[in-house]
Parts: sequence; structure tokens; C-alpha cells
Amino acid sequence: MLKNDSYKFSLRKNDEVQVISGREKGKIGKILKVDLKNCRVLVEKTNLVKRHVRPTQKNSGGIVEKELPLHYSNVLLLCPKCNRGVRHGIKWMDGVNKQNTKPEASSKGQKKAKIRICKRCSEALDVA
Ligand SMILES: [Zn+2]
Repeated sequence: MLKNDSYKFSLRKNDEVQVISGREKGKIGKILKVDLKNCRVLVEKTNLVKRHVRPTQKNSGGIVEKELPLHYSNVLLLCPKCNRGVRHGIKWMDGVNKQNTKPEASSKGQKKAKIRICKRCSEALDVA
């Protein structure tokens, strides 16, 4: 179904991202939650909305600020080296099976690691 899309969508929880569009443009935050189904990410302290909450036993009510999820195309993964949001590529770390690439065929322990790299400076963005 959405295979091609989910491939591009390689943001994960705790990634640092920069918002590139909308009113929160330029903001940097950590991903709190990834919604693969809707291709959305929840970024810490961005896209805040004010919610008026009725007092309950749990909280005292009032105005609560809450994050709204952003579409993944509105954020870019932050490259610590470039110090900005960048487009990232995928690199397969290993090099063992280059010819016979049946994903299921790879034996145990020979797992290929997919890492994300910065397209500007080629810095690996994933800490192994
Ligand atoms: Zn970079």
C-alpha cells in the first residue's frame, strides 16, 4: 500500500527535527511520538494549541497547551554537524550481500543495518 511512503518516512522517536513550514518554521524539537499510519510526528513544544480543559479530579482545569502532530514532510531531521534541518539519505551498513539481496535470505547475525546520513555533509545521523 504505502510502501514507498513509509520508506521515506524514517523519522523515529527522540530524533531531533527542525520544522520547515507553517507557523512553527525554524523551530527545533525532539520527536515525542511517531504516527506511521498518518505520517505524522509529534514534536516537543511545537505546533502548540491552547485547550480549555474542564476541571476534573485529576487536574484543576484551565488552559492547557498541547502539541499537535505535524506531517512528516514539514519537518527535517537535524544534522548536528550542519546544525540545521537536512534531507537525509539511507545507507546500508555492511556490504556482505550486495548481489543476492533477498531480505529474508540474510542469515542471523548478518543483519544489515540501515543508517541515515546527512545529504549535505554525509554525516551519519544514527548513533549505532
Ligand atoms: Zn550534515
